[in-house]
This record gives sequence, C-alpha cells and structure tokens, in this order.
Amino acid sequence: MKKKYERRSFLKKAAVGGAVAAASTTLAAPAIAASKVDIAIVATWGRDFPGLGTGAQRFADRLTEMSDGRFNVEYFAAGERVGAFDSFDEVASGNAQIYHAADYYWKGKHPGWAYFTSVPFGLTYTECNAWIRFGGGQALWDELADDYGLKNFLCGNTGVQMGGWFNKEINSASDLKGLKMRIPGLGGDVMAKLGASPVSLPGGQIYENLVSGAIDATEWVGPWNDEIMKFYEAAKYYYFPGMHEPGSALAAGCNKSWLTSLSNSDQVIIEAAAAMENDVMMAEYNAKNGAALARLVNEQGVIVKEFSDDTFDSFGEAADEVYAEVVQHSDLANRIHESMVKSRTEVGGWLNLGDAAYSRQRNRVLGL
Ligand code: CA
Repeated sequence: MKKKYERRSFLKKAAVGGAVAAASTTLAAPAIAASKVDIAIVATWGRDFPGLGTGAQRFADRLTEMSDGRFNVEYFAAGERVGAFDSFDEVASGNAQIYHAADYYWKGKHPGWAYFTSVPFGLTYTECNAWIRFGGGQALWDELADDYGLKNFLCGNTGVQMGGWFNKEINSASDLKGLKMRIPGLGGDVMAKLGASPVSLPGGQIYENLVSGAIDATEWVGPWNDEIMKFYEAAKYYYFPGMHEPGSALAAGCNKSWLTSLSNSDQVIIEAAAAMENDVMMAEYNAKNGAALARLVNEQGVIVKEFSDDTFDSFGEAADEVYAEVVQHSDLANRIHESMVKSRTEVGGWLNLGDAAYSRQRNRVLGL
C-alpha cells in the first residue's frame, strides 16, 4: 500500500511538471504495442470434443485472457489446418507455435514420448505431476523435446482410462489373440505381445472402424468421452481398469526457438495457462465420468466388467517384455524409463498408504 501511495503522489507531482510527465507516458506506449504475439495452436482433437478438445480450446482462450489480448491466438482443431497426427511436424517446423496432443502419438519417432502421456503400469495423474515437477521428469522431457526443437508442458489429464470396448468377454489373455484393437502408445505393444493387432487411429476415425468391423475392439478414454463416441452400438463389454493409460497427460508442445524468443513474462503466461488446464481438465473428467458410467449401464445396456487378476498378470508379463525392448532403444529411453520407475516406487509407495489406503477404508466403512 505504501508503494502505491508513493507512486500516486509522484504522479501528482509529475503532473504539475506537465511536459515531463507527458513525455514519459508517450515513450512507454510503443514498447507495449510492440509485444503483440501471434500464436497458432494445432490440436489432435475434433472441434468442441468434450474434455480433450474443449480443454485445449479453454487453454487457447486463457492465453488471450491472461495476456489481456496481446496474444493473438488462433486455434485449429484436427483437420482444420493439418491432420491430427501432423500437428507435431507443424510445430517442430515452426509453421505453428503450439500443439495440444497426447505425446504418445509420437512414439514412432522415439519411444520416450510415450512416457509423457502414459505407459502401461505407469503413473496416475497425481504420480505423474510429482514425477514431472519434482522427480526429474520435466528435465528428461525437455531433453527429448529439444532434439525436435520443442519445449513441452503438462496441459491436461484424463485420469485413469477404461480398458476398452470388446464385442465378447475377455476372461484371460488368450481371448485377446487375433483381436484388431485401436490402442496407441506402449499399451498397443503390450497387446501385440499377447497376440492382438494394435492400430493407432485418431479419435474421429474410431467409431466408423468399429461399426464396419475393420477393428474388433477399441479403447478411447473413459465413460464421459466414450458415451459420446457411441461405441456401445458395436461393442457391449466395457472393461476396467486400463493398464495401458493409468493417467494420460496431454501436452502443450511449443516451438522452442519461438518460445524462447518471447519475454520471460510471456513464457510464464504460457506455462501458467498450461498448468491451470492440467488441473481443470482432470477435475472435469473426475466430475463427469461417474454419471456417464451410470447412463451407459442403465440406458444403453453396457456390461461393465473388471479384467481378471489372471488377465492383469498377463498384461504385466507382456509389459516387462515391451520395456526390455524400450530401454535398449537408446540411453535417453533408458534414463526416462528408470526415472519413471523410481518415481513410481517412491511416490506410488507413499500414495498406497496415503490416498489409496484412505479410499479403501472410507469406501469400506461407508459401503461406497
Ligand atoms: Ca486412450
């Protein structure tokens, strides 16, 4: 308060001086006008797709608001400027400034990318935040992204995903043999080890492939998003939990040379807007999944089933085989894997007797 008062009294005094005050005001103005920033955002999501798409659009709007309109943000949903899976190259090349995507879509470029979305038997939302922000995850993400001219931030999360939609019961891993399933990331590699044929399709193409029989099964996200996709029209069995995506992080991937050309405060605005969306999107998924699951069961006759321990053990063995290959890929892939495992042990161990133990006891006592 004291400072404000002093400043006001200074301005009053300066006003008496007239010409001096006017000169300093005119000099300050051009510096502000010069800091307009054009930002094209390309996303891997359809326009207005709830959660993923609306979250990315909310991030874009927030950049405009937080900069008081200095950021001139243009948002392009999948297909509006480039195809969903071309958004990486669009930003790496500098044609656009930011992409909003799940980084595991780029695992063909380097398997390390998968870890910054979600990997089989990997981290939950809470564990992922701890790893990225305090467990060395961000430094490894930066090292990987730097090779492509990118700098990425956490910018949303779906939480633990459902295991997927099947047109028959999956009682053991042998029931997965021969299934053609839409499942991206390292989860797809785990399914391949068990004899399924994984395919990676952007969200907008899954329904038509499932209905036509081009694929037999699919995973997408969770009840809120999957209900909108109407997968129940072609597959009635809805399995949980998804070993393949225990807490899928979304990324704001920025062209690094563009980002670092901005003022420090503009860079912080982008980082802060991304962090806010990371929090808000997760809250929205958690708030809406439960009601959607009830509608799927009660209105659409969906049969919700839990993967058996036997099936999960097979997932675990297949995941071990996948990781044995991933760590051979490169020194960086190995270091990313080891860092994730360390956080999983330390943070996961704590949360098991923190959050998880509390939830088990609360739900037992209250019968939830
Ligand atoms: Ca998914």
